[in-house]
Amino acid sequence: MDVAAFTSAPNLSPSPFTSGSPSSRAHRLSLRASRRRRHPLPALRSHPSASAPASVSHHDVVVVGAGIVGLSIARHLLLHTPLSVAVADAAVPCSGATGAGQGYVWMSHRTPGSDTWELAVRSKQLWEDLAAEMDGLGGGGARESLGWMKTGSLLVGRTSEELATLVEKTKVLSQAGINAECLDATSLHALEPALSVGNDGGAMFLPDDRQIDAFQAVSLIEKTNSSYSPKGRYMALYNDPAMSLIRSEVTGRVEAVQTSKNILYGRKAIVVASGAWTRSLLHSFLGPNSTLDIPVKPRKGHLLVLEKFDRLKLNHGIMEVGYVDHQGAKSNSLPLSSKSNEDEDDASSISMTATLNTKGHLVLGSSREFKGFSREVDKSILKSIWDRAGNFFPALNNICLDIDEAKEIRIGHRPYMPDGKPVIGFVPDMSNVLIATGHEGSGLALSLGTAEMVTDMILGNAGRVDFTPFSIENRFSG
Ligand SMILES: Cc1cc2nc3c(=O)[nH]c(=O)nc-3n(C[C@H](O)[C@H](O)[C@H](O)COP(=O)(O)OP(=O)(O)OC[C@H]3O[C@@H](n4cnc5c(N)ncnc54)[C@H](O)[C@@H]3O)c2cc1C
Repeated sequence: MDVAAFTSAPNLSPSPFTSGSPSSRAHRLSLRASRRRRHPLPALRSHPSASAPASVSHHDVVVVGAGIVGLSIARHLLLHTPLSVAVADAAVPCSGATGAGQGYVWMSHRTPGSDTWELAVRSKQLWEDLAAEMDGLGGGGARESLGWMKTGSLLVGRTSEELATLVEKTKVLSQAGINAECLDATSLHALEPALSVGNDGGAMFLPDDRQIDAFQAVSLIEKTNSSYSPKGRYMALYNDPAMSLIRSEVTGRVEAVQTSKNILYGRKAIVVASGAWTRSLLHSFLGPNSTLDIPVKPRKGHLLVLEKFDRLKLNHGIMEVGYVDHQGAKSNSLPLSSKSNEDEDDASSISMTATLNTKGHLVLGSSREFKGFSREVDKSILKSIWDRAGNFFPALNNICLDIDEAKEIRIGHRPYMPDGKPVIGFVPDMSNVLIATGHEGSGLALSLGTAEMVTDMILGNAGRVDFTPFSIENRFSG
C-alpha cells in the first residue's frame, strides 16, 4: 500500500474575530457579549466616539467583507460605474468560506425554475465572459489567471433509482437549454475510466460546466480592483473589522461604517457581504431595537487536497447525485461521534465531489455540519471523505492515507440560509444599506451575478435577474 499525504495549505491569516490584533480581539469579545446579552452595543451611533480612530475617508460605496462576494461587488462597481469603493475585511481575502471553495461553476446540481436558477445561469455566463476576456489577453489566459478548466461535470449515481433520477434531471436541464447527456455505466466508463458506478449506475454529463480556482480568481479580482486605487476610486482595508454604523444626526440616514481603525463614509451605499458572520455583525450594526434577524449561519465544510496526485486520472469534475439533497438538507446520512460545545446539530453529512485542478492537485470533498465557527480539523470527517471517494474510485482503496501527515485541509464556513437561497437586497427602512450573503455552497459560482445584481440595486436599475426571490422584505422582518 502506498501512503498519501496532503499538500500544505498556505497558512491563511486568522479567521475573523480570532485575529491576534487587539482591535479584533476586542471586537470578538463584544460580539460574544452581544449574543449573551442580546444586542448591547450602541452600534448605530450618530457620530464617531471620542476614542474613535481618526482616519476618515469618503467613498461612494463601502463594502464590508472581502470574500468572493464582497470583492466581486467592488469589481463590478469599479468596472461598470464611475463610483468609488472601499472594502473592509476583518481578516484578509480567502480567510472566510472563499478560501475553502472547491471551485466548481456547475449547473448539474441546479433546478430550472428554482429561485436561484436565473442567477446561476447569469453568473455562469459572467464567468464565461471573464474567462474569454482573459484568454483574449494571451499568455496563460483564463487557465493561469482563474484556474479556469473546461472539464465539464459528471453527476453520478450507483443504483438504478439514482440512474432514473439522472435520466429525469437530464431531460429537465435539456429543456431549460443546458447541454446535458445521460450516460449508462458502459458509456460512462469510456469517458471516465477511473470511476466505478457498478452495472446499474450512470451519470449525467454536462460538457459545458467549468471550474475555477478560488485563490486565483480572488487574486485576479483584487488585481483589477487595485488598478483603480491610483485613480482614487478603490481602497482595501484588511485586518480591520467593521464594528458599527454611523448615522447622520440630522437625517438619521446611515452615513458611514466604523471599523477598528477607520471611519468609511459611503455616500451612496453600504453593502454588508460578510458571509456567515453577517447575522452577528448585523446585530451589532442594528442594535437592540431592530426586529431584523437574518438567520444566516456557518455551515462548516472540510476539503482534502492531495498535491500532484498521479494515482488517479480524472477527466471531469465529479459529484455524486446525493449532493443535491446534501446541499439543501440540514443534515443527512452520516452521524458522526465528535461533538463540541458549539454543536447545534451533531449530525454531519458527507457527499463525494472530486476535481483535479490546474496544478494537478486532487481536491476531494465535502462535508457539511453545524459547529459554529470552529476551525478544528476533524479527522473522522477527513476519513469519511476519503472512504466515500473510495466508493467511487477503487484506485484510492489501495492507498493508505496518513491523516496525521496531512498538510492541506481546507476548512470553511458556508453562509447557510434555512430557506436555501441568498439574501441580496436593501435592509428595510434603510435606503442605502444592502446585504449580500447566504450563498451556502454556491458563492463562487454565484458571485459575479450577485455583484451585477447589487450594482443594479444601487443604481436603481431593473436588473437582468429578478431581485424578488432574494429580497429581505417580507422574508425575515418582524
Ligand atoms: C468546503 C467548501 C467547498 C465549497 N465549494 C464551492 C464550489 O465548488 N463552488 C461554489 O460556488 N462555492 C463553493 N463553496 C461555497 C463558497 O465558498 C461560499 O459560498 C463563498 O465563498 C461565500 O463567499 P462570501 O464572500 O459570502 O463569504 P466569505 O468568503 O466567508 O467572506 C466573508 C468575509 O467577511 C469578512 N468579515 C466577517 N466579519 C467582518 C467584519 N466585522 N468586518 C469586516 N469583514 C468581516 C470575513 O473575514 C470574510 O473574509 C464551498 C464552500 C466550502 C466551505
